[in-house]
Amino acid sequence: MPRLPANKLSDMGYIWVVADKLFRLGARPPVVRSLCPIGKKTAIRLYQTIYQQSPKQGLLPYDPYWIVRSSVINIHASIFLGLFQDFTRQQNQDGCPAETFIAAYELYCRVVAHNPHPSKLEAGVTQAILLDINRAWQLSGQLRAGEIGLVICGKCQARHVVLTKMPKPFQQCPICEVWADKSGRRRWVTVNARKIT
Ligand SMILES: [Zn+2]
Repeated sequence: MPRLPANKLSDMGYIWVVADKLFRLGARPPVVRSLCPIGKKTAIRLYQTIYQQSPKQGLLPYDPYWIVRSSVINIHASIFLGLFQDFTRQQNQDGCPAETFIAAYELYCRVVAHNPHPSKLEAGVTQAILLDINRAWQLSGQLRAGEIGLVICGKCQARHVVLTKMPKPFQQCPICEVWADKSGRRRWVTVNARKIT
């Protein structure tokens, strides 16, 4: 019986399956190529086969401070990166990083789609998915680089993401260090109420 390859990413058929899945989840070619060893032309051809059009050109949008833009955004980043970190730790040596990333992202999408009380921000996007897969890939890079960390809140025990190299206002808990303004929008406690009203 043939043995399975130690590293699945040396199996071309498997690589195509993973790349196809990433594209269907919305990943752009540079993201797919960072997770699957395929060439630029191959990635673009596969994208065109799936979507019947050429992929967007140019750099991926990148916002290093995205996780602190709002507490709702921070909750979404915390759900995805929490799953990603747990899955990465459970992964054995032969595990495929692309597979781990996909598993965490798919589970994130399922979790947020079942929110019975979506915020305005969440209600405005399909299935409440605020975190696009390309940004999820960037966040996983920030986590690996140590720019983002997962911490447990001392008050409410929620696990949430923080910008590790930034001062305290960038490390607030998205569950208990927030308040709601007149319109019901959740604000970080450090955002001054007088400035808004
Ligand atoms: Zn808390």
